[in-house]
Amino acid sequence: MACLEIHEEICKGCGLCINFCPRSLITLAEHLNSKGFHPAVLKEPEKCNACTLCAIMCPDMAIEIRKEAG
Ligand code: SF4
Ligand code: SF4
Repeated sequence: MACLEIHEEICKGCGLCINFCPRSLITLAEHLNSKGFHPAVLKEPEKCNACTLCAIMCPDMAIEIRKEAG
């Protein structure tokens, strides 16, 4: 399973990653981060295949993807 971490304090809630996830796995959280933005969150981590599109599209490099061994 892919391991994806969205650093919510870096995220500015622009929504680009949401638009580019081919599986529609990302949404904006209800809560605000310390900068006053709704940060992106991964809805169903088990469905993420670590394609890296969301991380590539993020202008602020707020998404980190680690592929687990095996
Ligand atoms: S790595 Fe790919 S499948 Fe996973 S959340 Fe990002 S865009 Fe979606
Ligand atoms: S593209 Fe980056 S800054 Fe924009 S909502 Fe997604 S994680 Fe946040």
